[in-house]
Amino acid sequence: MFLTTTVGSLPKPDWLAEPEKLWAAWRLDAAQLQAGKQRAALQWLREQERPGIDIVGDGEQFRIHFVHGFLETLEGIDWNLKTPMGIRNNRYIAEVPTVTAPLRRRAAVHVADAAFMRSQTTRALKVTLPGPMTICDTLADAHYGRRADMALRFAEMLNEEAHELEAAGADVIQFDEPAFNVFLDEVGDWGIAALERAMQGLRATTIVHICYGYGIEANVKWKSSLGDTWRQYETIFPWINASGVQQVSLEFAGSRVPPDLMRLLPDKTLLVGAVEVLPGKLESAEEVAANIRAAAKHVDSDRLIACTNCGMAPLSAELARGKLHALGRGAVLARRR
Ligand code: ZN
Repeated sequence: MFLTTTVGSLPKPDWLAEPEKLWAAWRLDAAQLQAGKQRAALQWLREQERPGIDIVGDGEQFRIHFVHGFLETLEGIDWNLKTPMGIRNNRYIAEVPTVTAPLRRRAAVHVADAAFMRSQTTRALKVTLPGPMTICDTLADAHYGRRADMALRFAEMLNEEAHELEAAGADVIQFDEPAFNVFLDEVGDWGIAALERAMQGLRATTIVHICYGYGIEANVKWKSSLGDTWRQYETIFPWINASGVQQVSLEFAGSRVPPDLMRLLPDKTLLVGAVEVLPGKLESAEEVAANIRAAAKHVDSDRLIACTNCGMAPLSAELARGKLHALGRGAVLARRR
């Protein structure tokens, strides 16, 4: 009861990349970079195992960003042609690479790194991938013309990657779709279909992660504009419950998401955000336990996994470490009752 996991990303150590920053450049040269990423991933693996986190991952130490890490080696993307783009419906502007030709995945992207992680732990191993809709909202298109078409092409490549990750020992494969909370109509029109294509035929446990974003200023501002209750999940959860995805990771702790919206996913296991990802706030184990118990009023305990609200990449390493401990101990407390 009440297994624990994180959404995925954890801070990079300052010797690997500039801390507390998204898209931070690597600080090691090419010859040392891979060994450095492995060292950082191993450190975070032990930091997850120590407080008893049940389903572990690499903390995304191998990738520069949760979306662009998957894109770096694909064919068809011009990384020198940076297009300014209003990401997540103009919540913030980023200079993103541009698709200029048919997309092709010539080689595996994260598979060798997953195999390395598999060799280092006996715990359930989770690997995260960006979802097709979120990729299309973090990348400019000068080739496909329709987002739905480009998303489907990404879904095919993600599916190939996911099957190879599964063969390399990933027990759980999570697709990150924060864009699902922004483009609600498109989720119904083609977002779910693209997600299901990305998951097609997998035997590994599948998750979709849908949140209100990293704890960065642009997201905090956006959240404050959403009113007293956040009802985005109300539109999309019924579609997700009818889909083939097995588990849903959602934001809950400290949010304005009405808890009863979790009842819209009666057929799924829920990864409930019991830990916030804002900088500067470290919750106690008791607070985490209270969040888990509050969620358990709306979700059967055996369908509830305690998680973080989102990735912790932009936080300080010390704070993220504290949150891992609070999560592990908070789940122990919640199980006692
Ligand atoms: Zn998230």
